Amino acid sequence: MIEVKNIHKTYLMGQVEVKALNDVSLKITSGEFVAIMGASGSGKSTLMHVLGLLDRPDAGAYYLGGRDITKTSDVELAALRNRVVGFVFQQFHLLPRMTALENAELPLVYAGKRHLRERAYQEIENVGLKDRMSHRPNEMSGGQQQRVAIARSLVNEPFIILADEPTGNLDSKSKDEIIAILKSLNQKGKTIVIVTHEKEVAIHARRIIQMRDGRIISDESKDDRPKAEELVSLEDEAVNEILSRPRKSAGETKFIDYLRQAVSTMFSHKMRSLLSILGILIGVAAVIAMLALGSGAKEAIEKQLASLGSNLLLVRPGSAKVQGIAMEAGAVTRFTFNDVAAIEKLNDLVARAYPSVSGRGQLVYGNKNWNTQIEGDGTAYPQMRAAEPTVGRFFTDQEVKMRDKVVVIGLTVARELFGDTDPLGETIKINLNNFRVIGILPEKGANAFHDQDDLVVIPVTTAMYRVFGKQYIDSVFVEARGPDLLDAAQESIAKIIIKQHHLSKDEEDSFQIRNMADIKKTLEATTKTMSLLLGSIAAISLIVGGIGIMNIMLVSVTERTREIGLRKAIGATNKDIMVQFLIESVLMSFIGGVSGILLGSGAAALITLFAGWAARVSLSSVVLSTTFSLIVGMVFGLWPAKKASQLDPIEAVRYE
Ligand code: ADP
Ligand code: MG
Repeated sequence: MIEVKNIHKTYLMGQVEVKALNDVSLKITSGEFVAIMGASGSGKSTLMHVLGLLDRPDAGAYYLGGRDITKTSDVELAALRNRVVGFVFQQFHLLPRMTALENAELPLVYAGKRHLRERAYQEIENVGLKDRMSHRPNEMSGGQQQRVAIARSLVNEPFIILADEPTGNLDSKSKDEIIAILKSLNQKGKTIVIVTHEKEVAIHARRIIQMRDGRIISDESKDDRPKAEELVSLEDEAVNEILSRPRKSAGETKFIDYLRQAVSTMFSHKMRSLLSILGILIGVAAVIAMLALGSGAKEAIEKQLASLGSNLLLVRPGSAKVQGIAMEAGAVTRFTFNDVAAIEKLNDLVARAYPSVSGRGQLVYGNKNWNTQIEGDGTAYPQMRAAEPTVGRFFTDQEVKMRDKVVVIGLTVARELFGDTDPLGETIKINLNNFRVIGILPEKGANAFHDQDDLVVIPVTTAMYRVFGKQYIDSVFVEARGPDLLDAAQESIAKIIIKQHHLSKDEEDSFQIRNMADIKKTLEATTKTMSLLLGSIAAISLIVGGIGIMNIMLVSVTERTREIGLRKAIGATNKDIMVQFLIESVLMSFIGGVSGILLGSGAAALITLFAGWAARVSLSSVVLSTTFSLIVGMVFGLWPAKKASQLDPIEAVRYE
């Protein structure tokens, strides 16, 4: 059934070469019950691992059922381990978080035969543990655990059972039970190889092999093998069949198993999983909330612009091309009331216009202070900006002419300065001048970047001469008679300004006329930049969360080295292990992602409710952050998973 010829295995311990196997040849035929004996360190386990396809010899040949499998691939070896060999270890190597039944089922998972679960049930019953079926390893005695391990080794109906000191960790009563089980298995025709250093165990075998220093020094058989017809023998064809036919597609059952594993791993390390999920959760929540603020701001701007009407033109000094540094460019047209009057005279194109200046200022009412935007505007302001006061009135042309100290205040200012008292008729100080409050502007709303109700409006003349000490107008707002007249109006206004100010050709860009589309573009670009900035800061926190997951997964791989070894020993391929760990990390980041979306949306709702900022959670941001968190789980889980999959089964099983 199994034959090894002249195999060598040498380990390097520092500078010293240890010949664990030194030219060993051995043939095991069907139905044998072999005991391998020898002192500790004589190479027994190494031989077992080679026989069990857990390890490859450095030199020599291996024949299984007559076929040379010395050079088979890792994937094929995994299939053979799964179907041909049943391994029983001294330390049992049951998976701690699974019940006895689930442990016994495990090889079926890798064989893609999950539907044959009754077999596991049957095997557990056969080893006399029917009533311990749903117990976990830590609820069972050593003997019981080893019996579960035997049930597991049998569940895929292997051709040979390899047991490495199966009784080494057991009391004498359990020892006897295990031997009785192995003996009866052999009587039923199973081939069994057992490593032991105990005489009383070895006497039950039909053949005893002695090893010393990596060599076989004696090999004695009592010739009382079971009758030929009872033998379960392994033929060349059987090996060929296992190797040629790829394992039945077991993707789905494996996936369910991995998912269950991932969930139970998470639950058995609650705090740890929670913390790493929290990292992703915070990251995703931040992304969602930031993007919500961004799109809320965009929406608010659009609403504001819509209320302005699309016929608005804005005339300002300075070049449109070198915005911001235009003042240094030399020629700057300064506007006066004459310009406004001239623009207003373009009756057939212009409906109305108003001059505007603005700046910041300190408001004082009683013991309350508030710093806000101060706008000096003309009387066309309320119609053109859809800002007819809800309470009180706007100032009149007469008041503008007289430079009266009257003020119309925005809602935020009203709330901050007056609280519950009625502001109408009250006197406030603006930059140390006393102003009478005559009206309150309608609510315009706020977003994360700008509160449109945080302003006061005073007559433009008062603002220029009494508050800011300005000689010129900052800008002129013009309303064209219709959207189709915008271009014509823009052209005529430009002509008038050039004429009024006697501008030469190269001075023509010393002022600019912008329409709503331009203004909208600028505003949108600004909010976009802001949201992008906030979004990327949030995304960085998501990456930090991913690193947290990677950290936990690396710990988990180290901690579960034995589990990985065991899984490989019963037939898991590298890919199986890799997928299992990937699923775990993706599951964690997915849970973090989903709860992050909920938290982020909640935060956005709260921001809208309490801060009054518009925040809108968009579907695209939900999709984006879910995808992103899944990718984070993948990317940061990949390395630990790869590390896990590349563990050597022997190293892993021997790991303490
Ligand atoms: P036994 O099972 O008979 O006690 P082993 O087969 O476990 O012996 O080990 C045989 C020899 O090989 C021992 O000297 C041991 O120290 C050495 N050995 C086994 N595994 C390794 C390894 N991974 N690295 C270095 N030396 C090893
Ligand atoms: Mg050993």
